[in-house]
Amino acid sequence: TGISDVKDSTQSVVVALRIRPLTSSEHKQGCKDCITVIPNEPQIQLGSNFFTFDHVYGSTGSRTTDIFDECVAPLIDGLFQGYNATVLAYGQTGSGKTYTMGTAFTVGGGAEGITPRVMETLFKKIEKSKDGVESQLRVSFIEILKEEVHDLLDPNPAAMARADLNFLTVNCKNPSTGKPVIQIRETTNGEIMVAGVREVEVANHQEMALCLEQGALSRATGSTNMNATSSRSHAIFTVTLEQRKKLNMNSRDNNTAVDEIDDFLCAKLHLVDLAGSERAKRTGTDGLRFKEGVHINKGLLALGNVISALCDERKRKEGGHIPYRDSKLTRILQDSLGGNSRTVMIACVSPADVNAEETLNTLKYANRAR
Ligand code: ADP
Ligand code: MG
Repeated sequence: TGISDVKDSTQSVVVALRIRPLTSSEHKQGCKDCITVIPNEPQIQLGSNFFTFDHVYGSTGSRTTDIFDECVAPLIDGLFQGYNATVLAYGQTGSGKTYTMGTAFTVGGGAEGITPRVMETLFKKIEKSKDGVESQLRVSFIEILKEEVHDLLDPNPAAMARADLNFLTVNCKNPSTGKPVIQIRETTNGEIMVAGVREVEVANHQEMALCLEQGALSRATGSTNMNATSSRSHAIFTVTLEQRKKLNMNSRDNNTAVDEIDDFLCAKLHLVDLAGSERAKRTGTDGLRFKEGVHINKGLLALGNVISALCDERKRKEGGHIPYRDSKLTRILQDSLGGNSRTVMIACVSPADVNAEETLNTLKYANRAR
């Protein structure tokens, strides 16, 4: 691939590469940086292989703020115009997915990461448009493990012990069992609904941050080994924005956001911290783990197929088959991948020579998305 085929900023799939710095333990082990970033080009070299992406964020001097401004901020603008969007972090365990997405956020902890910046930006934009538009934000936070959907905002005893989480409200419980039933449904106009997952209405940045924190907490406590679970499951933090035009508005002339809304707009943004992309053989060979490995590969495999089908212009124009139904992950993201929606895939890699094989796999996977 050459530089000439870099697509414009409204393209439906944007692929960014993020190379994290060597960690201190990699330094101690004597690991060497094996990735060369080509100066002034979104291109890298690994051994004899060259790869070009829409953006490359090298291990020195690149910040999450830059990724946010260049890749994610345009998606938030789109959200306010009614377009769904998805941000995905792909890569092997330890490559920086959670660091980049900011999905392990704790209130009062570092605001590094894309998700905390998304929250901040959303409320700033809502504040700006509030004279002409009534906006409502809802969030949900789910995890897909072994092709099963788990609600990370469903109250568990540990979380409910915290008084500050009492504003959460319950919806969609099975009346006979009292347990939520989670079903993926498609409406007649192609909208995907994940029924049985609680959606929490948030009025301000702080309430939204609490939801993110609670979800991160239940993801961490759902298993005895946090790293094991988070490396095998996909975490999806979803923000739904509803906008209604206010009937009596006097500020029409000086508020451009208002003119873009007819009467009602609804759109969602998925922030996805994907399961680790490493091979099943690496995570163990006992029966159970192997099955989990197979399922993880199912989601990542289906995602790769969907994204590469979306990037195949000819297939898109001919209305070709996009294999959304092959996994829970792609099914849930169906109305936010392709069509009018925008997708950013952030491929995360370690620069360490010991990880070169997995890094090459990630580069190939991400390259297929272009
Ligand atoms: P993953 O979620 O892909 O398993 P993590 O996000 O947990 O990986 O990152 C692994 C380690 O590397 C963590 O200690 C994290 O703080 C660190 N790290 C990841 N990305 C960066 C970065 N861009 N800058 C500094 N440290 C990073
Ligand atoms: Mg992680």
